[in-house]
Amino acid sequence: MSTIFGPVHSRRFGVSLGIDLSSSGKQCNFDCLYCELAPMQAVMHQQMVTPINEMIQDLKEALLNHPAIDVITLTANGEPTMYPYLDQLVDAIECFKGSTKTLILSNSASLSDEHVFTTLLKLDQVKLSLDAATAETFKKIDRPAEGIEISTIINAIQRFSHLYHGKLFIEILFVRGVNDTLEEVTALNRALFDIQCERIDIGTIDRPPAYPVQGLEFYELYTLSQQFDPSLPIHIVSRTHASATPSRYTRNEILSTLDKRPLTMDDIDTLFDTTSKNEFQKLLDEGKITSVERSNIIFYLPFKNFERKRSKRALKS
Ligand code: SF4
Repeated sequence: MSTIFGPVHSRRFGVSLGIDLSSSGKQCNFDCLYCELAPMQAVMHQQMVTPINEMIQDLKEALLNHPAIDVITLTANGEPTMYPYLDQLVDAIECFKGSTKTLILSNSASLSDEHVFTTLLKLDQVKLSLDAATAETFKKIDRPAEGIEISTIINAIQRFSHLYHGKLFIEILFVRGVNDTLEEVTALNRALFDIQCERIDIGTIDRPPAYPVQGLEFYELYTLSQQFDPSLPIHIVSRTHASATPSRYTRNEILSTLDKRPLTMDDIDTLFDTTSKNEFQKLLDEGKITSVERSNIIFYLPFKNFERKRSKRALKS
């Protein structure tokens, strides 16, 4: 069963069974600095193509062995949207998946291809990477195949987000000294304003990278998160939480911190010392802080802020 892996439990997506759409080796239209696979020249097409029947057969067998799966994740040793029979595969999975959700993890590069665009519209959940919004940084961090331009990708993601009815997630991975500048975050902010999505996950390198580059500490990610517009649904995803040192926050500081950026309990555990956590709990008990759930993740924010967002939604509808 070389095309199937898992199930693995993901806090963000639930219990996932993965299908590798490039099981014979890395085939990708990017060659990212941070890739956890070996460096390899970016290519536009798959040369080694797994037969579609093999994948469908493997998946059906795996689902019989693991019936309690939340999500079937289409991924690859490389970029899954380069699989030439992706559309047929998605249609086939739709016929037997029942209530299990489908998810694809894509680097976004092929979204400007109308065929891929239409296929991705059929999935329940789509996660698209967007590591940079300026041409220079994009080429530096993602090292795309010739002819792939970030402006075309951003236009495609924006258009997709307005037409898509499923849950769209955006992921930004920060690399020290490459895309962690104010200039880049400002450009990303501009691009993200016109992308309607469920959540924007920001993270950093947490596995050995293809090239000699470094990730950021949790506090640096947290500082970057505050440079994004507060209206954007930013979520910090980091395994470097444990290395941070908790600090003391007053009641007002807790409220203004949550006002700028809603936090998860993991963030609070990392940032707040014991006294601050007790104060946070009191504010929660008094109803001054409330929680909202966004695709399996609970965020805490000031009740006033929540009311404001609710009235904005009411105005829009
Ligand atoms: S898009 Fe993914 S698989 Fe391709 S090079 Fe980047 S990290 Fe590696």
